[in-house]
Amino acid sequence: MGETAAAGETIEMNETKAMDDLIQEQYRKMGIGKEVFSYGEEIVKLLAGRFTAIDSVAEYNQLKVLAAMQNNRVSEACLTGTTGYGYNDLGRDTLERVYADIFHTEDCLVRPQITCGTHALALALMSNLRPGDELLSPAGKPYDTLEEVIGIRPSRGSLAEYGITYRQVELKEDGSFDYEEIEKALGERTRLVTIQRSKGYQTRPTFSVAQIGELISFIKARRPDVICMVDNCYGEFVEIIEPSDVGADMVVGSLIKNPGGGLAPIGGYIAGKKECVENAAYRLTSPGLGKEVGASLGVLSQFYQGLFLAPTVTAGALKGAVFAANVYENLGFPVIPDGKEDRHDIIQAVTFGTPEGVIAFCEGIQAAAPVDSHVTPQPWDMPGYDAQVIMAAGAFVSGSSIELSADGPIKPPYAVYFQGGLTWQHARFGILKSLQSLLDQGVISGQDLEKAKEKLRKTSK
Ligand SMILES: *Cc1c(COP(=O)(O)O)cnc(C)c1O
Repeated sequence: MGETAAAGETIEMNETKAMDDLIQEQYRKMGIGKEVFSYGEEIVKLLAGRFTAIDSVAEYNQLKVLAAMQNNRVSEACLTGTTGYGYNDLGRDTLERVYADIFHTEDCLVRPQITCGTHALALALMSNLRPGDELLSPAGKPYDTLEEVIGIRPSRGSLAEYGITYRQVELKEDGSFDYEEIEKALGERTRLVTIQRSKGYQTRPTFSVAQIGELISFIKARRPDVICMVDNCYGEFVEIIEPSDVGADMVVGSLIKNPGGGLAPIGGYIAGKKECVENAAYRLTSPGLGKEVGASLGVLSQFYQGLFLAPTVTAGALKGAVFAANVYENLGFPVIPDGKEDRHDIIQAVTFGTPEGVIAFCEGIQAAAPVDSHVTPQPWDMPGYDAQVIMAAGAFVSGSSIELSADGPIKPPYAVYFQGGLTWQHARFGILKSLQSLLDQGVISGQDLEKAKEKLRKTSK
C-alpha cells in the first residue's frame, strides 16, 4: 500500500518535471533564455498567496456581475442590436441597468458612441458643469488628455472656453490628500470635484476605494451639493467595491479597459445619480432626446460577454502587474506600486531612468503580442500628450490597454507604465520577453540577473 503510494508520487513528480521541461522548451522556442525563465519561476513561487487573494476578489466580482445579469433578465434578444435611431433598444437599455446594478447607482449610460475614456470623462464634465462653475481636482494633476478638456493646456472647445474655471490642490509629499488646502479650495462656485483613482502616467500611488470614500465624505460634509466624480479607468473589479459604493455621484470609465473584458471593441460608461447621467445623455445625443436614441449596432453581445469576463480578465492583468513589480523591483529598478503593496488598479510603473530602458522594455512587450509582434514600436507625438510616447500594443482591439500593453513617455524619470494581458499566462510571457529584451540590448547584464537571483534566495529564506 505504502509502496504503491510512493511509486504513484514518483510518477506524479516525474510528470510534473516533464511538464515543466516542456513549458521551458516552449519558452525557449519563443526567445526566452534559461536564465530569464528560471528567474521568473523563482518570482512566481513567492507570489502564491497574493494570487489566491486576487482570485478571491475575482470570484466575488464574477458573482456580482452574474447576479446583475440574472436580476435584469438578460435574454437572447438583448444580444442583437438596433440600427438607425435605435428607439426601444432592449439590449442597450438592459445593459445600462446591468451596469447600474453592478455599480449600485441609479442609472448608467453605456454606449458605443462614447469613443474612449477621455470622451466619457469630457462628456461627464461638460454636461454637468455650466458657465461660471468651477471644477476642482483635489488630487493633483489629472490624466494628460484631460488637460486639454479642462483647458489647463489651451485647447479648442475646452471647459475654459465656456467660462468654466479650474482649480487644483496638490497631493502632499507622501501622496495623501491635503485636506486643509482642499477645504480652502472649496469655493462658492465649486460645482464638481474630479477624483482620479488610478495614477495614470504619474508616479503617485493609486487611491484605494476606501481612501476615495474618505475624501468624498470630507467634501460632502462641507458642500453636500457638490458633484463628486471619479475617473475609474483601470480600477474596475480590482476591489470588491467601486467608488460609487462610497459616495461618488458619478463613476466614469472606458470599455477598452477593465469592464470591456477585452471583447468590447469601443465604448465608455458613466454610472451615477439619475440627474448626472441624464445630463450626460442629453449632451451625448441631444437635448430632448437623451438616452432614447443611439443605436447599439452590432456590439452588444461583445459588451455583455466582455463584462461577464471582466472580473477574471482583470485578475489576470493584476497578477501580471504584481509579477512585473517583483521582477523589476528585485533587479533594483524603482517600481510603483512596490512588490508587496495592495493593488487598486492594474497599472504597473517601472522607472528605468533612461530612454534606452523604456524603449527596450516596450520592444519586448510588443514582441510578445498576438498581433503585430513583428513590428518595432517607435516614440511618436501622440495627440493629447505633451511629450513623445512609445507604445507597445499588439492588440485585437486597437489601442486596448486591458490587453498586454505598455506606454512610456520619453521624458524624465523615464518610466514605463505596463498594464493588461487578457490572461495571466500571456502577461507572464510578456514580462519575461521585456526582461529578455533589456538583457539582449545590454540595459541589464547577466551579472545583474545573477545578483537579483541571489537576493531572492536570501529574502525568501
Ligand atoms: C486611460 C485613461 C483615461 C483616458 O482614456 P482613453 O480611453 O485613453 O481616452 C483617463 N484617465 C485615466 C486614469 C486613464 O487611465
